Amino acid sequence: MQRIAMLYDASQAVLSTFELDEVLQRILNIARTYFHLENVAILLLDKEKQELYPKIQIGWDAGQDDVRLALGHGLSGIAAQQKRPVYASDVKLDSRYIASAVGTRSELAIPLMVRDEVVGVLDCQSENPNHFGDDTIDLLTIFSTQASIALQNAQLYSLERRRARQLEAINAIARETTAVLDIKELLAKVCSLIQQEFRVSHVSVLLREEEDLVLRAHCGELTSGIPDGGRLPAGAGLWGRALSMGKTVIENDASNAPDYIGLYHETGSRMCIPLVSFGQTLGVLVLDHMRTGGFRVEETQPLESVADICATAIQNAHYVDRVKQLAYLDGLTGIFNRRYFEMRMAEEIERARRFHGGMAVIMADIDQFKVLNDEFGHLLGDEVLRQVSSLFHQQVRKIDVVCRYGGEEFAIVLSQTDASYAAAIAEKLRKAVESWQFPGVPRQVTISVGTAAYPYHGTTRDELVKAADAGLYAAKQAGRNRSRMTPFLSKSSGHSAGI
Ligand code: GH3
Ligand code: MG
Ligand code: MG
Repeated sequence: MQRIAMLYDASQAVLSTFELDEVLQRILNIARTYFHLENVAILLLDKEKQELYPKIQIGWDAGQDDVRLALGHGLSGIAAQQKRPVYASDVKLDSRYIASAVGTRSELAIPLMVRDEVVGVLDCQSENPNHFGDDTIDLLTIFSTQASIALQNAQLYSLERRRARQLEAINAIARETTAVLDIKELLAKVCSLIQQEFRVSHVSVLLREEEDLVLRAHCGELTSGIPDGGRLPAGAGLWGRALSMGKTVIENDASNAPDYIGLYHETGSRMCIPLVSFGQTLGVLVLDHMRTGGFRVEETQPLESVADICATAIQNAHYVDRVKQLAYLDGLTGIFNRRYFEMRMAEEIERARRFHGGMAVIMADIDQFKVLNDEFGHLLGDEVLRQVSSLFHQQVRKIDVVCRYGGEEFAIVLSQTDASYAAAIAEKLRKAVESWQFPGVPRQVTISVGTAAYPYHGTTRDELVKAADAGLYAAKQAGRNRSRMTPFLSKSSGHSAGI
């Protein structure tokens, strides 16, 4: 009767919660109290490695927590392998015994089984030899059956909960990424969301550019070994393997993989998932864990769903980028148009204002272009416009922006530039055109150029364009094929020199 009461109590206690840690703790407490045990532990089975590891214990000696027990080793290992309780009535006389607590004299290991499968072992130890009689062993075996069910329930529950959490995470990522159309912002968001929701040490996005992969965004706790925007070979490394196989690669001992290439100093394990949208491979999503063994195959599927969502979002952002670019490009010459010029002017003025720097604008107009059209035809006129665009491009720095302002007029935004440098560039452009032999045009083609600089000629776009236009007008008036800068405006500086 007392035994039945004990088992009833035990089942009530154990089955009353789904929290794994709490279930385990209750199992141990019941075993300890009812059976007067000094040392008890629950070891769980790592199916992949076929090893037992202590999940929770009371009374073991320090340092025993990390012990791993292969199946067939020690009493617990044998119990798990043979799927039956194993008892050593006096451990001193039993060669199967492996010590985990110094005072132990007898040990009973009972496999925790669900259906016919071992999920772990309940390990009971006493400081008395012959502590476990047949009755006690029977009772503990029945108890362990209940414990197994509780354990299995708790594990299923935690798996369900993890799945629900991951589903929520996937939804959150989908929700938050589809609205972001700026690629840089999108990638940063993707990395931080995945890192948070999937609890990995570091998340990186490598995007395909020409033959390489480029580190476009990353987020996490690891120390970076390459700079942002750094290039990596697309045909090597774990990401290369993922790309060439077209599927996810997991390396749980990353640095020992023969094709491993470092990205962060502390990486222990790595997962690489190709980013594919509509059959097009955009790059690789790289997840790093600081510890080895950080990834489980079961986690692949939710992360692949996330990668798909990200790939679509990246593709969308690319399209938007492209459309934006088209909206800013001139169809005839392929250089930027007036709309882009106006946007860039505003940005450059703002930058100059904030950093107390300079910037300048050049307006250039082809001389007597109407006559050129009349003389050689409109098609050749178009070709001259294209060639002038390309000549301008060659003469300025990468950070400067050459735009077609309209017709045969060009506008150039010079970043971080003062008035005298801008005037020198204007002259350089004029000379470049003057000396260029345009195919099909058996005479010189020239331009007139006007220049204005921030803050001397104005502090707004309109003021600066007006001042540059005034310079251009002055150049035309002076006989064309010249560059001019109007005198500095008195409101911004004391200078009044013209060029
Ligand atoms: P100026 O030296 O005073 O600037 O004389 P211009 O003839 O260059 O100036 P005007 O403004 O009188 O004429 C501009 C000409 O540019 C008229 C127009 O037909 C021509 N033009 C404008 N856009 C294009 C184009 O896209 N292709 C061609 N071939 N010609 C164009
Ligand atoms: Mg003209
Ligand atoms: Mg004109």
